[in-house]
Amino acid sequence: MTRISIFLTAVAFATLTMLAQAPTSTGVVALTGARIIDGTGRAPLQQGTIIVNKGVIEAVGPAAAVKIPAGATRVDLSGKTVIPGLINAHAHLNVDQGAGLPVRDDLIRRLKTYAMYGITSAVSLGSRPADELEGLKLRDEQTHVTLDRARLYTGGLNAIGKTPDEARKSVDRLADLKVDVIKYHINGNPNDMTPDIYGALVDEAKKKGLRTFVHVFYLKDAKSAVEKGTDVLAHSIRDQDVDPAFVAELKRRNIGYIPTLTRDLSVFVYETKPAFLDEPFFRKGIALYGREVDQLSSPASQQKVRNDKEAQAIKQALQQANRNLKILSDAGVPIAMGTDSGAEGNPGRWQGYFEHVEMEMMAKAGMTPMQVIVAATGGAARVTKVDQKIGTIEPGKWADLLVLNANPLDDIRNTRQIHSVWVGGQRITGGN
Ligand SMILES: [Zn+2]
Repeated sequence: MTRISIFLTAVAFATLTMLAQAPTSTGVVALTGARIIDGTGRAPLQQGTIIVNKGVIEAVGPAAAVKIPAGATRVDLSGKTVIPGLINAHAHLNVDQGAGLPVRDDLIRRLKTYAMYGITSAVSLGSRPADELEGLKLRDEQTHVTLDRARLYTGGLNAIGKTPDEARKSVDRLADLKVDVIKYHINGNPNDMTPDIYGALVDEAKKKGLRTFVHVFYLKDAKSAVEKGTDVLAHSIRDQDVDPAFVAELKRRNIGYIPTLTRDLSVFVYETKPAFLDEPFFRKGIALYGREVDQLSSPASQQKVRNDKEAQAIKQALQQANRNLKILSDAGVPIAMGTDSGAEGNPGRWQGYFEHVEMEMMAKAGMTPMQVIVAATGGAARVTKVDQKIGTIEPGKWADLLVLNANPLDDIRNTRQIHSVWVGGQRITGGN
């Protein structure tokens, strides 16, 4: 390389570095002119201003009430709608061992895909042995690095035991790993932990200051789990209508409910080729989704779903899930958006895309767009309690923001009209 070209390269590099750093050169960014839906359920603010300092929201309010500090970088978002970055309260971050990537790289590309779709936080309700520790490492890093991916919170491996003592030991191991939550299963089959075992599991989690999330299907199991002190139902009740006494009990105990409707959709929808596989918004994620799309598109795979009794039965269960979501939402039970996306061995649960389908399904089940947005932001934060600083656009919260070109209160599908995504005050995708 000649001296002059080295010089030019250095100049180009310096310019690029300056460009990359320009939006945060003073550490303060002022987002102006947008409609702001803050995730608390409050009415939207028209033409509001958000001040971001060092990745955190410092002020938010009407333009006239919020002073923009001298030297702040101004970003004009007139005509846009800003909502908090979405939280997936029932995610998985499992490595695809067939993809041939180092575990860390595979997990990071998944978190980046979530973020690209506006899901800025994912709560993993179940690692695999191959990815448990790497997930915890990524979680630990995120408090002190500039993030270009979704935040991760993780339960590590699901807690389990054949005896009450084993269940307690399982929780102790997870507590030592400093997991964010504890997840366990009651599937409704004879191999399930019995109530005395999962009762011990929940009790041990409480002693360690950890909240418990349960996989359930049947109302009787949900009742038993709640009676044992479980904090969150991580799936819909899908065998019958919830009864008024149970609804009252959920409210009294402030139990969170994660409908996870797309999980059930994914069980049967690939019996043929669903139209959404060709949607441009879906194709944005194709770098990650491609392998599974190929797998699910084979005639043999589709035939298998058509012949699978369980897969066909879930159609009815999903209708029941929709009914119960409407009953529980109307009653004021705290709802959190979750999808089960990313669970290894279950192709077709798209990390990033399915959270938008989930919100559409929640609206179709009878929730208002505002209720759905709250369930996917501030409500999910209150149900999961994994981080005080996520979920709403309020002072003191991370500036995790989803900027939309259209108003999601008009149509929940407008969450797909993504202008830009911000994590910790950094614009990580989109915009101009
Ligand atoms: Zn799950």
